[in-house]
Amino acid sequence: MSADADAAMSAATWRVRLPATRAEAEAIPFADDVFPDAADPPTLLVDEPDPGAPDAWTLDAWFAGVPTADDLARLHTLVSSAAAGSAVVERVPDADWVTLSQAGFDPVRAGRFVVHTAVHAAAVRASDIGIVIEAGLAFGTGQHFTTRGCLAALDGLARRRRFARIADLGTGTGVLALAAARRWPQARVVAADIDPVAVAVASANVRANGVHRSRRRGAIDLIVAAGAHHRCLRGPFDLVTANILAGPLIAMAGPVAATLAPGGVLVLAGLLTTQATRVAAAYTARGCRVIGRTDHGEWPTLVLQRA
Ligand code: SAH
Repeated sequence: MSADADAAMSAATWRVRLPATRAEAEAIPFADDVFPDAADPPTLLVDEPDPGAPDAWTLDAWFAGVPTADDLARLHTLVSSAAAGSAVVERVPDADWVTLSQAGFDPVRAGRFVVHTAVHAAAVRASDIGIVIEAGLAFGTGQHFTTRGCLAALDGLARRRRFARIADLGTGTGVLALAAARRWPQARVVAADIDPVAVAVASANVRANGVHRSRRRGAIDLIVAAGAHHRCLRGPFDLVTANILAGPLIAMAGPVAATLAPGGVLVLAGLLTTQATRVAAAYTARGCRVIGRTDHGEWPTLVLQRA
C-alpha cells in the first residue's frame, strides 16, 4: 500500500464490534475514562438486541483511525464475556457512513412531533410539528423509546398546560428542548449536557430548526453542565425534562427537584421498568408526586409534579 493510501486508511472511520452481555452493556463507562490518554477517544455505543435474540447485546466503538492492539485490549476489559478474538474490526467508508447516518433514520412520530433528518422533510404534514435532527455524535435522533416517550409526554402536557420557563437536562441532540420550544413558543428554554460534543451538536440542530440560541423568549440557551449544577439552571422552572439514566437521575434528584417552581412538572426517562420505583422514590422524597407514567418497551417515562 502506498503511503498516501495508508494515510487515507488511517483517516477513515473504523468500527470495532464486540458481543456483550446485558449487564456489561449497561455498565459501559464514558470513553474518556476508558481511553484517558487518547486525544480523540472512540465513540462507544451499545446496541440493544433484536426481540428475537434478547441476550445478543453489542458494543460498537467508532474510531477516527485504525484501532491499535491496545485499543482492542481496553475494549475487551469492558466486555470480559467476549471470547478472545471475537472483535470484528471494520473500516467504514466515510462517504457511506455519512449517507447512512442521514438517510438511515426513518422519521419518528410521537404525538404531533415528527423527528426527521433533512432528507425526510417531506414526511412532515401540515398538522405536524417537524423537528430536523441530523444524526451525529449525540444521542437523541428519536429512534430510542426514551426520546419518544418524552416527546409523547410533552405533547400530552401541551394539550392542558402552558409553560414559560423550561429546562432540558441531558439534551443530547437538543431534540426535547426543540420540541418544548416549538410547543411553547413563548417560553425561555435552557438546554444542558455534561458532554460538550453533545452541546455542539445541539447548537447546530437548534440553528437548523430556525430557533435562536439565547436566553430570550422563544429561544434556546445551551450550556455544558452536569445535572443542575450551573447558575443558568437555578430555576425556578415550570417544566424540566431529563432523559438521562437511572443512576444520575437518582443522584441529581435533590438539585433537580429544587429547580422546580411549585406545581412545576418534571418529565423523566432513561430508566428501565425495574428502576422506576427507585427513581420515583428519589423524587417523591423531595416533594414531587407521580402524575403520569407511560411504558415504551421496557423504558418508562415518568411525569411528576412538585407540590
Ligand atoms: N435528551 C435527548 C438525549 C438523551 S441521552 C433525548 O431525549 O433523546 C442522555 C444525555 O445525557 C447524553 O447526551 C449525555 O451526555 C447526557 N448526560 C449524561 N449524564 C449527565 C449528567 N449527569 N448531567 C447532564 N447530562 C448528562
